[in-house]
Amino acid sequence: MKHSNISIFVPHAGCPHQCSFCDQRTISGEGNIPHADDVRRICTRALDQINEPENAEIAFFGGSFTAIPRSYMAELLEAAQDFIGKGKFRGIRISTRPDYIDDEVLSLLKSSGVTAIELGAQSMDEEVLEANERGHSSQDVVNASRLIKKYGFELGLQMMTGLYRSTPEKDAETFERLRKLYPDTMRIYPVVILNGTRLGELFKSGEYVPYSFDEGVELCSQIMERAEHNGIKLIKVGLHASEFVEGELLGGFYHPAFRELCEGRIYLRELKTLARGHSYLEVSVPERNLSKALGQKRCNAEELKRLGTELKIIADKTQKERIKLISRR
Ligand code: SF4
Repeated sequence: MKHSNISIFVPHAGCPHQCSFCDQRTISGEGNIPHADDVRRICTRALDQINEPENAEIAFFGGSFTAIPRSYMAELLEAAQDFIGKGKFRGIRISTRPDYIDDEVLSLLKSSGVTAIELGAQSMDEEVLEANERGHSSQDVVNASRLIKKYGFELGLQMMTGLYRSTPEKDAETFERLRKLYPDTMRIYPVVILNGTRLGELFKSGEYVPYSFDEGVELCSQIMERAEHNGIKLIKVGLHASEFVEGELLGGFYHPAFRELCEGRIYLRELKTLARGHSYLEVSVPERNLSKALGQKRCNAEELKRLGTELKIIADKTQKERIKLISRR
């Protein structure tokens, strides 16, 4: 069953924080702030268009839903509630900051039909949180996650890789600490550096030099494997171009198919292990994974060739396992 979201972006106008990666100019435009009528219009249209609404959720994204004024929050939730229930959508998701979670707001969300809460944790390293002016600590993430679980919500955790003052080791450690909070879902956002942000300034001045793109792919591919191993559903790896203002990109880890690059890297590691000591390797993979197994521009096949192994990959329409050894010599 395919799950889908009816996404409604709630910008946080007047947000008192200054996270290094956030372009306040794009989030503070009053003109784009949705109100109850917009919620009803979007949900009515989606109900008409979606075949299985019971597998869909109304998702209020924007990153600080519980930090917006209470009356505005209540207005949005009330409008959404009319579209929850039998023959309608499954529930409501929200995303927010870890330091805006307490008993009072969780009770309110519970009684308003909210089913899943995603927290922007970003990093569990105090120096990284501080250097990127997040304005919360790693303990806030721990406390908020535990409380969300206690209230019976689905917990989602979001982390960013490659932030100012971070390293692949610190980012890997962030994932390890987050997974121990038992999230149901996670999103991994490799940093994109935008013009008009503090990160952009630090990048232009040479103060911030992110680790290499290749290291970013390697790290995220390892995180993906760890998440799978721990039964955590990764609902996103990498940003879509539509999530930032085009033309504003200065650097960082943007690629239109970032997740596929990471999946290709996982295949490369598996292929290298199978090929070790052999000059010929034949494997089969599910048909839909063929391009990932070969790697972008056949880079996995090229890398094996460089290491002295000729690679043959067969695409199998019915195969479930990620990779099956056919023969090697
Ligand atoms: S990312 Fe940071 S600065 Fe931007 S809206 Fe969220 S809390 Fe505010």
